[in-house]
Amino acid sequence: MTSLPVEQAQRIISEWVRPLGTMETVPLKDALFRVLAEDVISTVDVPFQDNAAMDGYAFCADNLDLTMPQTLRIAGSVHAGHRFEGIVPQGECVEIMTGGFIPAGCDTVVPLESVMVQDGFITMAASAVAGGDHVRLRGEDVKAGERTLKQGVLLKPAHLGLLASLGIAEVSVGKRLKVAIFSTGDELCPIGAPLVAGGVYDSNRYALDGMLKRLGCDVIDLGVIRDDPALIKAAFLEAARQADAIITTGGASVGAADYTKAVMSELADVAFGSINMRPGRPMAFARMAAGEKMISVFGLPGNPVAVMVAFYFFVRDALFYMMGTRPAPLPYMQVPTLSPLSKRRGRTEFQRGILSQNEQGEWVVRTTGAQGSGMLSSMVQANCMIVLPSDSGDVGSGEKVAVVPFDGLV
Ligand code: AMP
Ligand code: MG
Repeated sequence: MTSLPVEQAQRIISEWVRPLGTMETVPLKDALFRVLAEDVISTVDVPFQDNAAMDGYAFCADNLDLTMPQTLRIAGSVHAGHRFEGIVPQGECVEIMTGGFIPAGCDTVVPLESVMVQDGFITMAASAVAGGDHVRLRGEDVKAGERTLKQGVLLKPAHLGLLASLGIAEVSVGKRLKVAIFSTGDELCPIGAPLVAGGVYDSNRYALDGMLKRLGCDVIDLGVIRDDPALIKAAFLEAARQADAIITTGGASVGAADYTKAVMSELADVAFGSINMRPGRPMAFARMAAGEKMISVFGLPGNPVAVMVAFYFFVRDALFYMMGTRPAPLPYMQVPTLSPLSKRRGRTEFQRGILSQNEQGEWVVRTTGAQGSGMLSSMVQANCMIVLPSDSGDVGSGEKVAVVPFDGLV
């Protein structure tokens, strides 16, 4: 089977995968990393009233030459959440705390630290403020009637804060994706028990479970399936009954005990079975009809690092599409490599890297060392992927390479 270029495989996935289109209403606190299912139109102005941006004194700047020192009588005080009754006359001021509503008749706040207070009067120095300073205007953040958030937005902490600032307690979001996973391989042993001769512990389901939970998916764990086509087929059918997407690991290449692809072609419409990359080449992607549902199926290789690479660069996007959002492209940084990198021309390579700052404060990357696709310890050491495109050969130290950091801030 010919191997597809990485970009083509990503494009096919983006064309084949459809949003589930199911939604539910949840309390705001449960909406983190869910996808907004409807536009949000604000019913309020934020802020709701003109208010002070600093602790200080509110006054009216009209008819005052603020380039000269000014002395104003203190007519009263207003704290956040309270209002000053009445109109502040010209030549007077009101003590105000940050967030306090600007009293009628005032348009400017002079900060506390810019005035001298004596005997019920303040004196501000020449040019301490200009008219309109330190006032947050009604609606300057959000205006009533404005579309504040668009359907399809992935809700992050800042979104939750913004929605709360509009007084919104519940939001309509896409239903959580149900993703079924199973490992295949006669050699796989359960964790927590002694390893038998020729065995390896099944680590893939644990890494997958973690990656899926980080995306807010409900994981349906179907365990380890022996290298037996009938059992693998039964596992696929059970997964399809329960889930919106299926991820398998192992048995995806062309060895004598590799049945995953054969079973996938029997049950599903296979888009591709191999990607021109390392690690992760024998990754397959298919669509499987199950009743009303159209299920995305990812047959990942068995090697643990390949599983993680395939997940981050192919499966992750697909799951976002199913949730109903188009994720922002991964942030690629171009940084010099401190280590020479050996690279075979003609395939994309995802190498594990460690991003750090040199003495000048510039970002640089070095390799974690040996790049065996079974070496999970290197994934733990790494904090980024170095992505070497198909047309690149060996890279010398000092040359720039593209890296994708593992951690995003929000
Ligand atoms: P396969 O794709 O089935 O040929 O597996 C490739 C390699 O990955 C073999 O060395 C397997 O033992 C290993 N492997 C497969 N599945 C897992 C798993 N779930 N956990 C850890 N290693 C695995
Ligand atoms: Mg196997």
